[in-house]
Amino acid sequence: MEQEQEQEEEEAKRSDSCPICLSSILQESYLDQCFHKFCYNCILQWAKFVPSKHSPQQSFVKCPLCKRKSSSVVYEYDGYSFKQHLINQDSETSNFFTKAHKYRLQCYYVEPGNVIGDINIMRYWKSYKYRQPNQWLYSWVSREIQALIQEKDVDIIVHHILGVIDSWRRNEPKGCKISPELKQEEFKRMVADAAKPFLRGRTDRFVNELENFLASALNIEAYDKVYIKHLGWKIPGINDGNDEEPEERDPLIPLLSFSDEDIDETA
Ligand SMILES: [Zn+2]
Ligand SMILES: [Zn+2]
Repeated sequence: MEQEQEQEEEEAKRSDSCPICLSSILQESYLDQCFHKFCYNCILQWAKFVPSKHSPQQSFVKCPLCKRKSSSVVYEYDGYSFKQHLINQDSETSNFFTKAHKYRLQCYYVEPGNVIGDINIMRYWKSYKYRQPNQWLYSWVSREIQALIQEKDVDIIVHHILGVIDSWRRNEPKGCKISPELKQEEFKRMVADAAKPFLRGRTDRFVNELENFLASALNIEAYDKVYIKHLGWKIPGINDGNDEEPEERDPLIPLLSFSDEDIDETA
């Protein structure tokens, strides 16, 4: 046990960020079996929202890194004492966290593939498509933020981000010949600034995902299908009933472990 702990400490020194939020760890906490280290809130949220669909009330959490099962989170360890939080003792499981939320969260745990299939990002900027409001953006951003921070009530955050985008769009100087590349850069920087306080280490990835979604000009359902196909996944209920030819590509494997049954990588 002690040896194992030492090994973990070695690992931790190399990367002192939380594997879930990718930011520096807030309120250091450990799983009781493997001693992998996370933010207190991150690992509790994980335990709450990423359980197996067959047993949503399970009283353990599978480590997102090594899959070992722990039944508690150890925190406020000061060398002498610690506190312990038992997993899922409260029955308040979430109804809002749907299969689609879970799939979106999983997307953030695979290496980002820059451009998805036929989505042409630069065409979006060059053709001034960004000037047109996107009617699905509100729902899409809501779902994205809900998935990322695993909270149901994200209205304030979504309004904030969309408000910033809106006023940026409205205040575009008339007749100003700024290059599409600069426009793109400005947009991404601005969205990142708005989202960073909430999304922390996930911000840049979120901004890229947002740009992808806008550039695709697809509605959410269609976008999900394209996206999942691009990843080479097959997720029942989201991209089944797809009568297209199966994709010939190596599926991307999530970096963290979700419950095993939801992604069929043999699509
Ligand atoms: Zn964290
Ligand atoms: Zn672990």
